[in-house]
Formats: sequence, structure tokens, C-alpha cells
Amino acid sequence: MAEARAPAAYGGPTEDDWSAALAAVRDLPADARVLLICHVNPDGDALGSMLGFALGLRRLGVRQVQATFPGPPEVPLPFQALPGLDLLVPDDQVWVDPDLLLCFDAASASRLGSLADRLLTAKTSVVLDHHASNTRFGGTHLVDPTAAATAVVAEQLLARLGVPLDAEIAECFYVAVATDTGSFRFDATTPAVHEMAARLIATGIRPGEISRRVFDSRPFGAVRLYGEVLQRAELDPRAAGGRGLVWTYATLDDLARHGQSAYVLEALIDSVRCAIEADVSCVVKQVGDAEWAVSMRSRGAVDVSRVAVALGGGGHRLAAGFTGHGSPAQVVDAIRAELAADGACPEDQG
Ligand code: AMP
Ligand code: MN
Ligand code: MN
Repeated sequence: MAEARAPAAYGGPTEDDWSAALAAVRDLPADARVLLICHVNPDGDALGSMLGFALGLRRLGVRQVQATFPGPPEVPLPFQALPGLDLLVPDDQVWVDPDLLLCFDAASASRLGSLADRLLTAKTSVVLDHHASNTRFGGTHLVDPTAAATAVVAEQLLARLGVPLDAEIAECFYVAVATDTGSFRFDATTPAVHEMAARLIATGIRPGEISRRVFDSRPFGAVRLYGEVLQRAELDPRAAGGRGLVWTYATLDDLARHGQSAYVLEALIDSVRCAIEADVSCVVKQVGDAEWAVSMRSRGAVDVSRVAVALGGGGHRLAAGFTGHGSPAQVVDAIRAELAADGACPEDQG
């Protein structure tokens, strides 16, 4: 189903958008049911922004709060200590017609999987996001493409609601911002991001402990799996108009042989994207029969979100993804073709 695209010049929420979102929360009846959802295969920002905001709603006195995400209910190991996880409910218990639906970090309704129907059945919906490729689905849009993470938008909404930060909310938001900025390394790491981090750390959270848990903890089987998958990486220096492509793939069989869950592959792209010979890197991860979750990164010259959007996905200029079909080689051929088209108009890059 085609969805409307955000106008290119869209700069973020207007005061009217903020007012509508504030009213949606403030005007809730006492017994209102509020459902919070985030994108499939949730990352630190999806879970952190959603759970941090859910805890904020609790502080505000909203009694009936559910949080959930589509797909397997397994929370990835790096996020299993997040505050607010007790608010998560399994698929079959999720309210069908909540009074308010809040959606976090999803660029399009398709990223909500089986939960997308709640956009139609909820009385009101508010979408909090920061993807430039956001399709403006749902009711009220708090979409700020300049924000480093959806948690930046969530923190602003809580502040406007008068909810003070506490250590639990702060830990959720810290995980969100730390993961989406690659531990404060990416270009999105503005002074405002560090100011937000300062506010969060001032609540007493422990950045060292959190980082160890989120970034530096992996089962030994995953370490071996990474070795195997990195071993089969390929470099194509001619791709992307000579800017180069490095890629690898991992199958469900690879995961099974090493006794690992799919989420352990999320950080694999960080090892692949280090190859200096290629501007574009890509990891093709099997999720089903001939179906692959594709992660792409750019070292700066190529806008990979254009490639991802052209192939049915979305994301940001330097980090994007889509769902691919066929064999890994076919998926990568489709990327190569889009990159070749992209390379034809270098003036559009940057
Ligand atoms: P990942 O490679 O999964 O870390 O995702 C990088 C970026 O691309 C994130 O901002 C995701 O939201 C976005 N993304 C990944 N997969 C998809 C998809 N299938 N559809 C839309 N956006 C995606
Ligand atoms: Mn995300
Ligand atoms: Mn995000």
C-alpha cells in the first residue's frame, strides 16, 4: 500500500503538532487505556523511547498503560535490564481499541507488523519519530528528522507534560540516545545531544555500567558466529560508482549452529562498516525463507536511505535498511543496481 511521503522541507513538529500531542495525553479520562508500540526488531531507541515515555505516563497518573512490539516477544539481551519492561505485554493481550496509541521510532506503518491495525482502531494516535523517511502515517505527528533519536522527541513531550526526569526514565532515554548515536560518535551528536545526556546522567544513572551491558556484552557463541560471518565478507570496489561496497550475510542456519538468537546480529554491521575500501557496507540477515533483513551503512559519500527507500525500506542518510527477497547475492545485486543509479547523480549526495 502506497503511503504519503513527508514533504522534503519538513523540519519537525510545529507548535500545533505539540499542542495536539499534549492534548491527546492531558485530556485522557481517568480510566483511559494507553497503548505504546514501537518498530519490529526493536533497537535501543525503539524500546528506550517507548519504555521511558511509558514510565513518564505512569508518573503522570495514567493507570492503564501497555507497551509492546510486533513479532517475537523476546527482548534482546542488551535491553533486558531496561526499566519499565514490566509494562510489556504479549501480542494476545494487547488492547484492540486503546483510547490513545503512541508509536515510537517507526518510519512507516509497515514497520509495525501485526500492530499496524491499531492505527485504525485506536481512538487517537500520536507518532513520535525522527526518520527523514517517515511516511506521516497515524494521527498527530511528532516527527523531527533533526533529532538524534526518537527519545529526544519523547523527552521533549514529557517535559512539556511537566513530568520530571527520574533515574528510570533517564536510563531508558540514555540507552536510546547512546545506541542511535553509536555511543555519541555519529554526526547527530550535537551539543543538544550532550546537553540531554547531561540531564539524564544527572539523575544518577551509571553510563559505564549501561554501556557495558548494551554494547559490550555478547554470548561466546555470538563471538564465534561473528568470526564465521566476517570471514565470508566480500569487497566490491567498483560498486557505487567506484565508492565501493563491502557486504556479508548470515543465515538462520548460521544462528542455529552457534545457538544464537537473531538479535545478536544487530551489531555485526559495526564490524563490516570499518572497511576503509568501501563507502557502503551491508549485512544481509535471513529472517525467513528467501527473506532477509538488510542493514546498510555509509561512510559519508552515499545516501543509503535513498537506496533503502527505493527497495521498500527506509532510514537515515548514513544508516538505513529494507527487507530483501531471494538469495543474498540477489539482494546485493538489487543494492548494486540502486547504488549505480545513485552514482549517476553525485551532485545530489552529501
Ligand atoms: P538497522 O540497520 O536495522 O540498524 O537500521 C538502520 C536504520 O534503517 C534504522 O533507522 C531503521 O529504522 C531503518 N530500517 C531498517 N530496516 C528497515 C525497514 N525494513 N524499513 C524501514 N526502515 C528500516
Ligand atoms: Mn530504531
Ligand atoms: Mn531511532
